[in-house]
Amino acid sequence: MTSKIGPDIRASIEAIVGAGNAFSGIDKTFDYGHDEFSMKEIAREPDLVVRPGTTEEVAAVLKIADAHRIPVTPRGGATGLCGGCVPLCGGIVLSLERMARVLEVDADNQMAVTEAGVRLSDFAKAVEESGLYFPPHPGDESAMMGGLVATNAGGSRAVKYGTIRNYVRGLELVTPAGDVLRLGGKLEKSSTGYNLMHLVIGSEGTLGVVTKVILHLKARPGLMRSLVVPFEELEPALETVPLIMKRGIVPLAIEFLEIEPITLTEAHIHKKWPTKVGRTHLLIILDAAAEEEMDRLSEAVAEICVEKGAIDVFIADTPSKQDEVLAIRSKIYDAIKSGTVEILDIAVPRAEVAGHVRKVREVAARYGVWLPTFGHAADGNVHTHIMKARYEAGVMVPVPEVEWRAKADPIRTELFLDCKARGGVISGEHGIGLVKKPYLSLVLDERQIELMRGIKRVFDPEGIMNPGKIFD
Ligand SMILES: Cc1cc2nc3c(=O)[nH]c(=O)nc-3n(C[C@H](O)[C@H](O)[C@H](O)COP(=O)(O)OP(=O)(O)OC[C@H]3O[C@@H](n4cnc5c(N)ncnc54)[C@H](O)[C@@H]3O)c2cc1C
Repeated sequence: MTSKIGPDIRASIEAIVGAGNAFSGIDKTFDYGHDEFSMKEIAREPDLVVRPGTTEEVAAVLKIADAHRIPVTPRGGATGLCGGCVPLCGGIVLSLERMARVLEVDADNQMAVTEAGVRLSDFAKAVEESGLYFPPHPGDESAMMGGLVATNAGGSRAVKYGTIRNYVRGLELVTPAGDVLRLGGKLEKSSTGYNLMHLVIGSEGTLGVVTKVILHLKARPGLMRSLVVPFEELEPALETVPLIMKRGIVPLAIEFLEIEPITLTEAHIHKKWPTKVGRTHLLIILDAAAEEEMDRLSEAVAEICVEKGAIDVFIADTPSKQDEVLAIRSKIYDAIKSGTVEILDIAVPRAEVAGHVRKVREVAARYGVWLPTFGHAADGNVHTHIMKARYEAGVMVPVPEVEWRAKADPIRTELFLDCKARGGVISGEHGIGLVKKPYLSLVLDERQIELMRGIKRVFDPEGIMNPGKIFD
């Protein structure tokens, strides 16, 4: 597609954001053409990268884009895993990176107001300094608050504390026509008409640009303790999870892991996991107000695990042991990234996780591939990695491209169909973006997708906002 951004339009945009904040040319824009999805062939060069510094600048740029039907792709930290911020149709990449101020931490109302370009790490730090706590913790802290809202990000603490959606109380949204909407507020309740704010959460930049976010905060929890529980077999490990929850214990996180990615990550970051026995491990993180309650919870969880056949229960109760275990869990992505084609984030009902992972293993055996699988067991959110490497005696061995390319799509489709049969969805937290778009109709019926298209048309009649994402 030839660029619609001629010299006059470019000059008008430069006059709004300043010449240094509107640039083109592959040497400067290369990094703005992709996200963390591994297959860089989906990357596109934007015609212009624009970095506004205020909501007013965002609105003025969008008015120009809308008038000339120039595609606009909002971009946060580009940590997305499904090509959501790739400028598929060229046009403008609108980067929020300069809107990076935490505007307020309001302790009395337990709310924070932040610009969309604040990184999760900076936001969490600002909240912590005020003595409060922001529980959602998706794995990459360089994600930005606008991106977290646009994808309704999750993370391992969702089992106890919910996803980003459960924390958003207000949004400032600039519509494609350049109108500034203030949705919600520092409110714990609202039954005042259709909830446009919740429509925008998870809309992946297709309805407008989020410029500010109001987030609910919690009181800081007291203590944290991690339990590492190895099992010989997959089923008893995963069947333990609903049992823990049914007994009224809600851990901060229950992750399940396989021994191969743990082994690779140990070598990658030079840290030690407490045990190497058993093929499937649970990492159960508990939080509690006081030592007594923590001991009671740990004992109850350990008892259930042992009843289900756990080989042992290892407790990481000192900060250094805890850090080691959490570092290994959070660095698995880095450790196997060079061999990863795609990270799936299928979500199924909690009691279906064991069945789904069994299916993953059956598919892996049938195709003769390695499909490392781990995830947020209590949320039913399973991260199967489609790989371009196999695992051999503690190292990854590359697989020829022609081989993994031929298998990737049929494997993905089989796993999505299994997810559908179990009442699941193809994305529990990463979003649909570009990569999962062809599979949306596997789990949503055409009438639902048509309603979504209708909503998009109302917000974005000219079709400029992140075109080609979620659905066509
Ligand atoms: C190592 C690693 C671990 C991860 N772990 C998790 C995890 O545990 N849980 C989880 O949910 N995700 C996880 N992710 C995925 C990713 O971090 C999240 O999807 C995150 O929310 C993306 O935020 P971002 O700012 O990087 O957005 P981007 O990648 O920049 O964009 C994502 C989407 O949001 C849109 N967007 C961005 N900013 C705005 C805005 N201001 N207004 C409107 N639309 C906007 C974009 O157009 C795009 O569609 C992980 C990623 C990595 C690399």
